Amino acid sequence: MTGTVYLVGSGPGDPELLTVKARRLLDEADVILHDKLPGPDILAEIPDEKREDVGKRAHGEGTSQQYINERLVELARDGKTIVRLKGGDPTVFGRGGEEMVYLADHGVPFEVVPAVTSAIAGPEIAGIPVTHRDHASSVTFVTGHESPDKAESAVDWAALAATGGTIVVLMGVTRLPEYTAALVDAGMAPETPVAMVERASREGQQVATGTLSTIVDARDSVGIEPPALTVIGDVASTRERVVDFLTTTEAAR
Ligand code: SAH
Repeated sequence: MTGTVYLVGSGPGDPELLTVKARRLLDEADVILHDKLPGPDILAEIPDEKREDVGKRAHGEGTSQQYINERLVELARDGKTIVRLKGGDPTVFGRGGEEMVYLADHGVPFEVVPAVTSAIAGPEIAGIPVTHRDHASSVTFVTGHESPDKAESAVDWAALAATGGTIVVLMGVTRLPEYTAALVDAGMAPETPVAMVERASREGQQVATGTLSTIVDARDSVGIEPPALTVIGDVASTRERVVDFLTTTEAAR
């Protein structure tokens, strides 16, 4: 009998934000393939005999997606119950879509277990709603990993600037100077509020705030490092109105 693969999201890092289903599957799985993104608190709960860390190899490079795909199929053909654990939600910039198609192509039954994505939870834990009746009627999730200068860049920053909605950039710590400049070039006000949230819901959580023109300096003075996301839009100013009453402030953790 071929085993089943569960593509499971871990949420942003606080173990209490795991879904009930994720927790049950972590208990029931024979093998758990993971990288570092679920964070130390959740990874500490996985017994070593079930663990396969596919995030980094000894020489420091990420394990290839092809290896992960093949390993999932191999374990399933061994009849194992497998959890492929991913940070946040499994299909938001998580390559869950590629794994679904690969498993289907190889006749392996699977289930996707949705989760709390950092793209929404990160801002809200910092006191920023991604939509707001008065400020934003849409939200776009975008990767900041690509160079905005690249002719073939898949992200159209000028089009995003024109939406007037909230923009949440994942994987966008390093290229912050480039995409904030691209948005201003495309006509967004340099005073547009921006916040960066690092390690939302877990130890080391930090927030930097500013505007499209000041956020690079704020990032550097706070010392924001990955994993962190950037929220761009009027909603980002909500934080300063609520932060004193947020019981999840960084200081309280
Ligand atoms: N599937 C994940 C995203 C994977 S891409 C999700 O739904 O959340 C990896 C990026 O996610 C990181 O570069 C960072 O931008 C963001 N991220 C993940 N966990 C985070 C956290 N706890 N705090 C802030 N950003 C986080």
